[in-house]
Amino acid sequence: MPRIAVVEKEKCNPIGCGGHLCARLCPVNRTGKDCITQDVDNKARIDETICTGCGICPNRCPFNAISIINLPEELAKQPIHRYGRNGFHLYNLPTPIFGKVVGVLGRNGIGKSTAIKIFAGMLQPNLGKEETASSDALIHYFKGSEAQGFFEKIKEGKIKVSYKPQQVDAIPKTYNGNVRGLLSKVDEKGKMDEIVEILDLKNVLGTEISNISGGELQRVAIAATVLKKANVYIFDEPSSYLDIKQRIKVSKFIKSLADDDTAVLVVEHDLIILDYMTDMIHIMFGKPGVYGIVSLPKVTRNGINIYMDGYMRDMNMRFRGYSLKFDPRPPISKDGLSVLTSWNHIQKKLGDFSLLAKRGTIHKKASVGVLGENGIGKTTFAKILAGVLKQDSGNIAENIKVSYKPQYLDSSSEDVVASLLGDAVRKYENQLIKPLNIDPLLLRPINELSGGELQRVSICYCLAQEANLYLLDEPSAYLDVEQRLIVAKVINDIAESRGCAVFVVDHDLLFIDYLSDELIVFEGIPAKSGESKGPFEMEEGMNLFLTELDITMRRDKDSNRPRINKPGSRMDQEQKEANSLYYS
Ligand code: SF4
Ligand code: SF4
Repeated sequence: MPRIAVVEKEKCNPIGCGGHLCARLCPVNRTGKDCITQDVDNKARIDETICTGCGICPNRCPFNAISIINLPEELAKQPIHRYGRNGFHLYNLPTPIFGKVVGVLGRNGIGKSTAIKIFAGMLQPNLGKEETASSDALIHYFKGSEAQGFFEKIKEGKIKVSYKPQQVDAIPKTYNGNVRGLLSKVDEKGKMDEIVEILDLKNVLGTEISNISGGELQRVAIAATVLKKANVYIFDEPSSYLDIKQRIKVSKFIKSLADDDTAVLVVEHDLIILDYMTDMIHIMFGKPGVYGIVSLPKVTRNGINIYMDGYMRDMNMRFRGYSLKFDPRPPISKDGLSVLTSWNHIQKKLGDFSLLAKRGTIHKKASVGVLGENGIGKTTFAKILAGVLKQDSGNIAENIKVSYKPQYLDSSSEDVVASLLGDAVRKYENQLIKPLNIDPLLLRPINELSGGELQRVSICYCLAQEANLYLLDEPSAYLDVEQRLIVAKVINDIAESRGCAVFVVDHDLLFIDYLSDELIVFEGIPAKSGESKGPFEMEEGMNLFLTELDITMRRDKDSNRPRINKPGSRMDQEQKEANSLYYS
């Protein structure tokens, strides 16, 4: 079997391991050969041509920095790209198809952004060699596949790509000025007014880019991408920061871009939105940070089900040791459950915005999903319950201790993760540290963590505090599907074992569906007024919420995952007639 050796440089700590422990233990080195040596940066370097795959170094490295992977022959043809000698390997690429929206689904760190950067022309692939590959070499690499034609068109200059990056929060760091200025600068199609209207950006045209919210920034980035003349549009995580209403609107808009002359490629972790927006998907699997393999395209519904199952029949490949399952949660019986706290007629005015929360009760052991548009008071309500904000009137019955994870995370600290988490590392090893995979992050400075890593640390920190109520504001942001479902399990486990309650404000309906026993629904007019209703049982709460959105949902008959019905379809009409917008 072909073998690859990967050293994750940011994890390799040759002083911490007592001085290149791997090199001292390697049996090939002991025979006098140079299998593991010191690279120019003093980190470990492995010669995979003489490594025997004995497994000693990956098992003994105290920082889990080494992976030795034996790849099946049929998968391990030349990588399309390799980051340096022992760096991440990417095999194959997703293929944009004209007239279709093609999705990419896979874990964080599996190479999705690398693949997209290759298409966007921001990264020249090297086919695993030292030098970048010529266009003829790329055409030859993809001979006989859809991608061959695509790279031929790139060579002939017939492809123009427009790309929306994942990190929209980086835009204010590179652009000074207002939204109108930015959009008119990139408006090659002369369609600014039309796109601004579709994406609801009229009200922020005069606002400085540095002063708009995350959701507005995301829509500005999408507008800027679409205003450029191109025939391939690529969107890396277009749903981040958007509420559900906006996610659906943006999905419809992105879908409408694909025609005979235009191909669309989307990376997305919100499975309901990916399902709704795309015609086909590529699954990416492998080992995060080590290698990634892109599957052949699959019809979206089947592709998502295969991804959940973790087994690729056409390749005879199990890429996850377990399946992601969606067993419908039976309605909880509140009999015998003690009340944690309740509130009555809370009112709060903040500038032009007013919030009302009539009457509500939270029970111990409850996981409560909180749904509603952006700018409608969810975070304000959470802060009032947390005691961070004081209400103008109304009362909260019992004084309870609240631990709060905000929506926007502070990443400025230079402290290492271990010092932030303190004795939680020992105390909650099984409940938090292991499932959230915090161990590899413990010695990393907080200001060097990626968005997903910082999110996991923040969730861990919030849930490690002593409290009766945990409020998590958008915990799914930056997490992949697997991580979202693990977080949901961690939350349920904590609510059950500690007898506390957890409120989760989030826009990923699949995540909310998976974790919630009850729902609070916010209604109103963004930036003007908001009213909280509930908690309701899931079916009642989802019915109320979906009425507002004018959509219906069903469960997939094979995987049980929730899906949005096609508007006007038989199921959509039947469910609307029965006033059962949410599958039972
Ligand atoms: Fe030490 Fe691990 Fe780095 Fe080898 S890979 S030098 S054992 S930290
Ligand atoms: Fe050496 Fe390869 Fe064994 Fe590691 S796996 S100790 S590099 S022979």
